[in-house]
Amino acid sequence: MARINENYLKLQAGYLFPEIGRRVNAFCEANPQADVIKMGIGDVTQPLCPAIIEAMHKAIDEMAVKATFRGYGPEQGYGFLRDAIAENDYQDRGIDVTADEIFVSDGSKCDSGNLLDIFGDDNVIAVLDPVYPVYVDTNVMAGHTGGASENGRYEKLVYMPVTADSGFEPELPTEHVDLIYLCYPNNPTGTVASRETLEKWVSYAKEHNAIIFYDAAYEAFISEADVVRSIYEIEGAREVAIELRSFSKTAGFTGTRCAFTVIPKTLKGTCKDGTEQLIHPLWNRRHCTKFNGVSYPVQRGAAAAYSDEGKRQIADLVAFYMNNAKLLREGLAVAGFQVFGGVNAPYVWLKTPGDTSSWDFFDQLLEKSHIVGTPGSGFGASGEGYFRLSAFNSLENTEEAIARIQKSVATSV
Ligand SMILES: *Cc1c(COP(=O)(O)O)cnc(C)c1O
Repeated sequence: MARINENYLKLQAGYLFPEIGRRVNAFCEANPQADVIKMGIGDVTQPLCPAIIEAMHKAIDEMAVKATFRGYGPEQGYGFLRDAIAENDYQDRGIDVTADEIFVSDGSKCDSGNLLDIFGDDNVIAVLDPVYPVYVDTNVMAGHTGGASENGRYEKLVYMPVTADSGFEPELPTEHVDLIYLCYPNNPTGTVASRETLEKWVSYAKEHNAIIFYDAAYEAFISEADVVRSIYEIEGAREVAIELRSFSKTAGFTGTRCAFTVIPKTLKGTCKDGTEQLIHPLWNRRHCTKFNGVSYPVQRGAAAAYSDEGKRQIADLVAFYMNNAKLLREGLAVAGFQVFGGVNAPYVWLKTPGDTSSWDFFDQLLEKSHIVGTPGSGFGASGEGYFRLSAFNSLENTEEAIARIQKSVATSV
């Protein structure tokens, strides 16, 4: 008898993006002439920048010649990329991370799920609410939760609400937790945590022997000088935190695939008998056993993101999206919406008017303005009454979407 992992059966069927797809398809079938603007899924829209393309072409040419051909590379990533990451993302900013603490991978989504391999099954897990659904679903799959309740929350997970009431700063849990998922700049809210909040979390983790998974996939979009870019800027974080970063949003690698995870050599977990165990060798073992590295041309492309040209081109790309975010933020405010985020992240998080639910707002926006966004409630119970719009789009679509929303508000008053 081939028994299945029944934890998969606990996953909720009506997953967010399929449900959005279903409603959009139904709308388009009924209204084939409608020009629908999609501002829902968080995927980039601009092509890879020239410096990256050039480096990838060159790497492919190397693969075509016997003298420069490469087979399996180091599982942890090539030295040229790990060195570039350590230097540019950390050491040049005065942050203590070395190249051998960096593990190059094919994505932060994969890493955030895979990390659970090296942790026990009896940890208490804390997530923000609203949350990037991957953190929750991977814990459900691993059997770390009970079933889902009516509002979509799983038993045994600790949810930390982040709403406008608390300025989107998560409160420390009142109970003990062991693994904590933080994501800043945040998806879906587009907001950032203050340095004080992150300091509180690091000291909580120290006190409780907990470990923080810090997802900084949107670090490149930070525009304000005083915003924390890496958890390792916080004193003591090297003892309690793993940081995940990705080239997906930073450099448009969502379809190209390259990311990295930082495991400090000073980070320890605890065995059942209370002895301490370094995390770095465990992750190294897992990575080498279950992963064979990111392709050479892709790693060359990622490394080109750190060349002078690459940096300039990526800065332009980020500025392009963040101009969309600014237009969205300002345009929605003019239309009378309460808006959050969009300053240090490519997402704008708006409060739905009055008591309108997230899904009702989704339907209204689709029907009246032919715009697709993401209902906040799809990211968690505390996202109810909120709605996410993405700045990953063309300028024309962004401007058109704003004009439509402003018009629809003006005509409905
Ligand atoms: C897009 C995104 C990632 C990146 O995932 P990849 O697998 O590297 O493409 C990670 N975390 C969050 C919260 C994201 O939105």
